Amino acid sequence: MNPTLSSFVETLVTDWYSTAARWTPPGNSSPVGCAQCEISPFLRLPGLVEWPHDVIHPLVEVLEDAVLQVQRSLEELDADIAGAVAPDPARRAAYGRHALKLVYATAMLNADDILDVLENCVGPAIEDYVAHELAAGLLDFEQTAESRD
Ligand SMILES: [Zn+2]
Repeated sequence: MNPTLSSFVETLVTDWYSTAARWTPPGNSSPVGCAQCEISPFLRLPGLVEWPHDVIHPLVEVLEDAVLQVQRSLEELDADIAGAVAPDPARRAAYGRHALKLVYATAMLNADDILDVLENCVGPAIEDYVAHELAAGLLDFEQTAESRD
C-alpha cells in the first residue's frame, strides 16, 4: 500500500469521524433514491449499509472524491512521463479502476475504526432518540386514555 495514498484516505476518513459523531437522528435512513450511494462500491464496505444514510453518505462522498483525486494524480503522472496533455480514454479508464482499487483497499484497512465510530457515536444517538420517542408516545397514549376516562 502506498503510504502517501494511505494517509491521504485516512485523513479523509478521520474528518468524517467528527461528522458522524455530530449527527443527530432522525434524518434520512435509507440510501434508496441516492444515485451516488446506490452505485458506489463503498456502500458495500462491511456493515455500512445498516447505518443511516445521512451518516454514511458523507463518507461515500469523500471516498468517491478520493478516487477522482487519485485518478487525476495518476493521469498527471502519465502526462508528465509521456509528455502528452492527457492520456487516452482507455488509459484514463484503467487509472480510474486502479484508483478505485487503491482507495477501496485503504478504506478496508480502516473498516474496523469506521464501524467503531458508528457503534460508539451513532449507535447511542439512535438509542437515545428511540427511547425519547417511545417515552413521548407512551405519555401521549396515557394522556389520551386519561381524557377518555
Ligand atoms: Zn447517498
